[in-house]
Amino acid sequence: MQYDVIIIGGSYAGLSAGLPLARARRKVLIIDSSQRRNRFANHSHGFLTQDGIEAAAIAHKGREQLLAYDTVSWLDAHVSNIKRVDDGFEVRLANNELKQARRLILATGITDVLPSLAERWGQSVFHCPYCHGYEIKQGRIGMLATSELSLHVALMLPDWGSTTLFLNGTIEPTAEQLAQLKARHVRIEQRNVQAIKNKLDMLMADGTTIGLDGLFVTAQFTQTNSFAEALGCELEQMPLGQIIKTTMTKATTVPGVFACGDAARFGGSVPLAVGDGAMAGAAAHQSLIFGF
Ligand code: FAD
Ligand code: MG
Repeated sequence: MQYDVIIIGGSYAGLSAGLPLARARRKVLIIDSSQRRNRFANHSHGFLTQDGIEAAAIAHKGREQLLAYDTVSWLDAHVSNIKRVDDGFEVRLANNELKQARRLILATGITDVLPSLAERWGQSVFHCPYCHGYEIKQGRIGMLATSELSLHVALMLPDWGSTTLFLNGTIEPTAEQLAQLKARHVRIEQRNVQAIKNKLDMLMADGTTIGLDGLFVTAQFTQTNSFAEALGCELEQMPLGQIIKTTMTKATTVPGVFACGDAARFGGSVPLAVGDGAMAGAAAHQSLIFGF
């Protein structure tokens, strides 16, 4: 059987892409491997009507509402390979089963690269102050520098608490940047961080510790797979990693392939994934009628 659309990734972006297609009674298959990017955090913030709700609950309710439509199918599976065929695309699952569709939506998210911080990720170490800054309750915040972008975030952080920027030997602010940091009352820590202990005690190279209530990092990220590349979709370099290049309607550079969510935007979030997904779903639907 050939589906109208296969959506790979059944989290916020993929589920949202499914809705316009389901409501147009199109045959949709969603394939998902349950690896939401925010699975390390207990709650999700900043999504209208769902602020502070469990991250899993939002995805669960979305899935329940989408699967209520007759023409939508779901597979708990991992996609291992995709290839273009005459009249569409062939998707290979990890168990070697094949699925066919006329259109493809990639909503497979990104992977945060977090050497040595993984165990605290989403609990006391975060990437986004809009998502998790408020809950630090104006406490002691650290910014662990990894790149120039860390300076940008460090300048924002005083709105959420008293901020220390740990340069950690990675960047050297210019005189102008130092003046900006000073104007925002950001403390600068020149000593290297040796380890993080207990809940969030920064153990410095000289043996002293600096206690924090929250730590932010601008982590590098990678795509979760190389499907876009394999299909010939163009990627775009962003400051922390590569995203799939898309138009305003979330079409990739390859006809019939759409992409949405974190995989296809820099600085993604749940509301943005939902918005991009809605666009990708409607655009994929219209491409079935009008062509690419
Ligand atoms: P994801 O949610 O990452 O989902 C991608 C899906 O694709 C996964 O289910 C995965 O299993 C599936 N998939 C990938 N590859 C395959 C494959 N080969 N085969 C089958 N399935 C596949 N945003 C907020 O708005 N508010 C917050 O409070 C917030 N907190 C966060 C906390 C943390 C710790 C992190 C890391 C992120 C947080 N975010 C938050 C950002 C948010 O998680 C992402 O923006 C959002 O999850 C993007 O949705 P998505 O659907 O694009 O991708
Ligand atoms: Mg997610």
